[in-house]
Amino acid sequence: MPKLNENYLKLENNYLFAEIAHRTAAYSEAHPDKPLIRLGIGDVTKPLSDIVVKALHDAVDDMASAESFHGYGPEQGYEATRKAIAGYYERNGVSVDADDIFISDGAKSDTGNITDMFGHDNVILIPDPVYPVYVDSNTMCGNQITYISANAENDFLPLPNHDQHVDLIYICSPNNPTGACYNKEQLKEWVDYALENEAVILFDSAYEAFISDPELPRSIYAIEGAKKCAIEFCSLSKTAGFTGTRCGYTVVPKELVFKASTGEEMSIHNMWNRRQSTKYNGTAYIIQKAAEVVFSEEGINECNQNIEYYKKNAKLIADTMTELGIRFYGGHHSPYIWFECPNGMDAWECFDYLLNEIQVVGTPGAGFGENGKNFFRLTSFGNYENTVEAMKRFKSLFAK
Ligand SMILES: *Cc1c(COP(=O)(O)O)cnc(C)c1O
Repeated sequence: MPKLNENYLKLENNYLFAEIAHRTAAYSEAHPDKPLIRLGIGDVTKPLSDIVVKALHDAVDDMASAESFHGYGPEQGYEATRKAIAGYYERNGVSVDADDIFISDGAKSDTGNITDMFGHDNVILIPDPVYPVYVDSNTMCGNQITYISANAENDFLPLPNHDQHVDLIYICSPNNPTGACYNKEQLKEWVDYALENEAVILFDSAYEAFISDPELPRSIYAIEGAKKCAIEFCSLSKTAGFTGTRCGYTVVPKELVFKASTGEEMSIHNMWNRRQSTKYNGTAYIIQKAAEVVFSEEGINECNQNIEYYKKNAKLIADTMTELGIRFYGGHHSPYIWFECPNGMDAWECFDYLLNEIQVVGTPGAGFGENGKNFFRLTSFGNYENTVEAMKRFKSLFAK
């Protein structure tokens, strides 16, 4: 009998989405005449842009003839795709070497797989509440986690504690689930802390495309010194509606070099290259051709039309919360609105209340960590008309 990886026994069962589905189905069955408005969606709903669809079709045609057929590609990704991404960084005022970019099938895989680069006795700092992948991927390989509290007192943007040493730091900004977004001064504190402590920041910028204020950092590399201490994960999922198409990229700068216990220098860039070459055979040619056009100026303009649509929904929700005096975070540089449950309700009470009273379905913050127990997440990925109707109902429910 094989010994199994018993770390899997330590994983917390994530009942969140199953429980939401269960309560929602039970309500619908009892009240078939009352249609629900779903503002819990964590997935995009708009179709791919025309320019992306055309690139996909063209790439399929390439595969149909021997002259333009593509078999195994470079594990790191095609140079043209990596250069297009470097160009996108450049236009946003950040310089990233195309050689430091690794194309993937999405940020979830890479944020999960990055644990392969590190030993198992590091102090690993993860914020609470959090995107569950960081916690579960560390638990799966037996790592201990130290939580840092994100809460109303720090506007859900915790800063480093200089009296505590840590080795790895997970940051997601703009954040899922809270929608909170660090400014440059705050991120600089993290970068300075990481440099002082020789720590590595694992920066998830999956929602960077939702940032509209040019003063807010869309990349950790907007901060001086970050290439010596940070890996950045990004994705086309929210930027270009690729949740089902699958493409992401990870930046692992060559500057990330640390001393091994033997005294030898180890480059995380080389390690990641070795890891990907061993365990990954590259993102599909067809998908990379589509990704390449996403990052052209025309592609980004088209994709931004969808993002603007979602942001209009987000603003409507945020404005409603402001009007009702409900404390909330996000909603401006993020598709998420994270609000404090009114009238002292906890997250699940709030879920039931919204479902029963106004047939609006959202996501209880309790599913993202201890600090979410009195918070609730709404998303702007629904359609505009439904969002308008949901907010009308919110006003009738909570107006004083
Ligand atoms: C959606 C999301 C991603 C993107 O994941 P993909 O695997 O690229 O679809 C990454 N991080 C966070 C926090 C997300 O919410």
